[in-house]
Amino acid sequence: MPYSKWDEVVLSIEDSFGYGHKLFSKLKVIVIGYDCNVGYDVQYLCYVPPYETVPCGFKTFKITQAHIKYFNADKKFLGDYGCFITKSTQIHKHAPAETGEKCDRCGIWCGGAERGFNDDAFMCSSCRTNPYR
Ligand SMILES: [Zn+2]
Repeated sequence: MPYSKWDEVVLSIEDSFGYGHKLFSKLKVIVIGYDCNVGYDVQYLCYVPPYETVPCGFKTFKITQAHIKYFNADKKFLGDYGCFITKSTQIHKHAPAETGEKCDRCGIWCGGAERGFNDDAFMCSSCRTNPYR
């Protein structure tokens, strides 16, 4: 699979600007889920940050509960804007997600840390050692 969850992908989108010449716009999105059941191509659900300018003619949608469930995406994206990409979507840049977790208690980023599969919350080692810090 070309992308994994939390990867940052800068799409290169042909802007249907209305003029004769082609214009390519860049749009940064974050992969938040994927669906392997579509056959030869994997469909990725991406989050479109609100500060991004969506090129004219590019299809985005509001992320619903159904998307969250089907793509196993984080509930926090509910109601945000999303889009679909596949491996054949033209991209400008692909930045694999930094491995690590943000501590749910103190908010510190722990590079290389991994959340347990069934963990709802992640705590850094300092918070685990001293819950009263
Ligand atoms: Zn912590």
